[in-house]
Amino acid sequence: MSLDSKLDSYELAPRYRELQREAGAVAAALAAHADVADEASGIDPLVRETLAASGLASVMVSAEYGGRFESIDSLAVTVVREVFAGTSGHLDSLFAMQGIGSYPVSVGGSDRLRKRWLPAVAALEAVAALALTEPHVGSDLKAITTTVEEAGGKLTIRGHKSFITNGGDADFYCVLCREKDGFSLVLVPADTPGIKVTRPYQIIAPHILGDIVFADTRVPADHRIGEPGRGFRLVLSTLATFRVSVAGAAVGLANAALNEALRHTAGREQFGVPLAALGPVPSMLALSWTEIEMARSLTYRAAAAAARDPDANLHLSSMAKIGATEVAGRVVDRAVQVMGRFGLVRGSVIERLYREARPMRIYEGSTEVILDSLARQLLKQHSAGQRS
Ligand SMILES: Cc1cc2nc3c(=O)[nH]c(=O)nc-3n(C[C@H](O)[C@H](O)[C@H](O)COP(=O)(O)OP(=O)(O)OC[C@H]3O[C@@H](n4cnc5c(N)ncnc54)[C@H](O)[C@@H]3O)c2cc1C
Repeated sequence: MSLDSKLDSYELAPRYRELQREAGAVAAALAAHADVADEASGIDPLVRETLAASGLASVMVSAEYGGRFESIDSLAVTVVREVFAGTSGHLDSLFAMQGIGSYPVSVGGSDRLRKRWLPAVAALEAVAALALTEPHVGSDLKAITTTVEEAGGKLTIRGHKSFITNGGDADFYCVLCREKDGFSLVLVPADTPGIKVTRPYQIIAPHILGDIVFADTRVPADHRIGEPGRGFRLVLSTLATFRVSVAGAAVGLANAALNEALRHTAGREQFGVPLAALGPVPSMLALSWTEIEMARSLTYRAAAAAARDPDANLHLSSMAKIGATEVAGRVVDRAVQVMGRFGLVRGSVIERLYREARPMRIYEGSTEVILDSLARQLLKQHSAGQRS
């Protein structure tokens, strides 16, 4: 039995199995192009076209606005990301951001905004982005300095957002701004005058990133998403819905790395035996397999819980994100080690996976930041006598 067929061993409802099958077809169609796409500095046209034709981006929007299911479902997103991330980080990121970048509009946008943007997101006619981070503000989001002011039926945005996925290629940005004593999210179409995009950073992983400067950028007042000053809640509910899908991507990536390690070590002999039977190599492979299955079990449990109630199960999503991304880091590192010098070759599959794994422990809440909030929750439960 190949490791990939293990994906089928979970008792997923038929609709998720169908998603796995469709995602597998997209990944297979793009596999030979993944090395090119993962090096791209803008969205790769073939990846976009293939994903759009598959209709899978419609998972990110509710049925009312052209989406696949009645509501946006963390388990569905996780299932697809597991398949995509094992083939191409670029494909996975494009898919994931359609949800992360549009979710605030889905849950808090006016009717007009929803009708204008969500069907286009579902069809991948519009690319979405979520702009929170700033040059001097990352984990400590409440320290942002970008502002929004309302006057004369217009919202004026001033500030600088940094490290924004799809920055420069997105059709709209959901921008977190300070508004009086609170924080508001504002939808800014990318063609609004007063937006300047630069690409100061190229990172080691396949990722389209841009910095965006808003210089007195004006949009109509109904482009505020949700109530004035209540934008942080929307950010938190976006994380609660999508954080677990990073775990899905990490599991898929780790599994692909293990497959690479198996392919190489079963096929190469040293000292007269296959590497896969030599010294500690077999136990390194088996440990990776074990860790992947542990991570996958928690990921699917957390994703199913998040699909029922994302906010109430954020702790599980957070644990799955930490668990699976840390496992992916270890598995991919072990894979490089057992492949020896061939694990280090630029442009090889394992090299791409190695680079793709690293940022997962940093974005959407770094491991340490999430552990910090889990620890606080744990102590609170302990003090309240709520732990069995
Ligand atoms: C590939 C990629 C894509 C991204 N895409 C987007 C995007 O689309 N939109 C967006 O807004 N941002 C995006 N980001 C930015 C990302 O959200 C930030 O990198 C992340 O929030 C961490 O912020 P930072 O990098 O500034 O790290 P810092 O906040 O400077 O933290 C550095 C390190 O310090 C430690 N640390 C910080 N605070 C604490 C704490 N409270 N407790 C314990 N340890 C702590 C952690 O180890 C952390 O990794 C992206 C980043 C990457 C790498």
